[in-house]
Amino acid sequence: MNVHVSAHAHQMPHAHVSPNGWPALVLNADFRPLSYYPLSLWSWQDTIKAVFLERVNIVAHYDRAIHSPSFEMRLPSVVSLKSFVKPSAHPAFTRFNVFLRDRFLCQYCGADHDLTFDHLIPRSRGGQTTWDNVIAACSPCNLRKGSKTPHEAAMHPAHLPYQPTVQQLHRNGRMFPPNYLHDSWLDYLYWDTELDP
Ligand SMILES: [Zn+2]
Repeated sequence: MNVHVSAHAHQMPHAHVSPNGWPALVLNADFRPLSYYPLSLWSWQDTIKAVFLERVNIVAHYDRAIHSPSFEMRLPSVVSLKSFVKPSAHPAFTRFNVFLRDRFLCQYCGADHDLTFDHLIPRSRGGQTTWDNVIAACSPCNLRKGSKTPHEAAMHPAHLPYQPTVQQLHRNGRMFPPNYLHDSWLDYLYWDTELDP
């Protein structure tokens, strides 16, 4: 799935989700989203296919229906898998998830715009592109740091990068809700985190 990352937090997550595509939210067999980051969404075409293959149950519908001469079906807006898939404890290492971990803030100066990524230990010095070496940084800070180490540049991130758990991303995700959520999805999102003290 292709996730577009915008530099502006208020525009962000799941910018690829368009109500015109009639996407279905895909729930695991326990009625939690199959994945949050990115949110598990299928195109209506894939969803209909899965319905006919009897891999999913339909939980909610759009008002919109598709027709053929012999057939009419309302487009599912929420489906649940018939068999449980064990969710992974760790979210995927994606641009979006790195930004989400770092709350869409430059870890050097706190800027919330013009964001890119910085390798704490520069690649030219053997630094890897991994959770524990990549952080959100604004372009000016990224340029300023260049191929220096944090010590050489005297630039130290607010938080050292780490591999987040799904729960940690959840906490941040609530501050950055997707810009499009169908009403029928809301019952299945965020409820578990809202029970946190
Ligand atoms: Zn900065």
